[in-house]
Amino acid sequence: MNSNRYHPSIAEQIKPMERQKNIALIAHDHRKLDLIDWASYNKDVLSKHHLYGTGTTGKLIADKLDLPVKRFKSGPLGGDLQIGSAIIEHKIDMMIFFWDPLQAQPHDVDVKALLRIGVVYNIPFASNRSSADFLISSPMMDTEYERFLVDYSKRFKPVTDG
Ligand code: PGA
Repeated sequence: MNSNRYHPSIAEQIKPMERQKNIALIAHDHRKLDLIDWASYNKDVLSKHHLYGTGTTGKLIADKLDLPVKRFKSGPLGGDLQIGSAIIEHKIDMMIFFWDPLQAQPHDVDVKALLRIGVVYNIPFASNRSSADFLISSPMMDTEYERFLVDYSKRFKPVTDG
């Protein structure tokens, strides 16, 4: 554990991440080939962790890598929101999400919500291959990690009449 990682005043907001990570894999249609290719190249590392995915992406990865992938609904049917919910419940530790930068999606609002939740809950996530390479090759993939959670509630003050 990296006990000196954060300033002491925020130390109570730590969520330990286990050595074995829960990794969500998602790709929009035009980026699925890219993600499958990346996942195949990194199969050895990925096989040491727990894999999750949206419906179609998850099935493609499971078939190609011959590894178990827990699948949520397809993205347009709410899968992105389910993964967002799993992040909120600390069931997903990191995410590789190859979203399409050149085509609007019917579920764009869900995509935006998921990316936002990824930031709020401070999970490592990558949306392009270079970033995914840096994440997967990090020494932290093989160790526990103290994830810091921002206590956003401290920023909100209730509105009162007085
Ligand atoms: P899919 O969903 O894996 O079911 O295609 C991905 C997405 O569109 O978010």
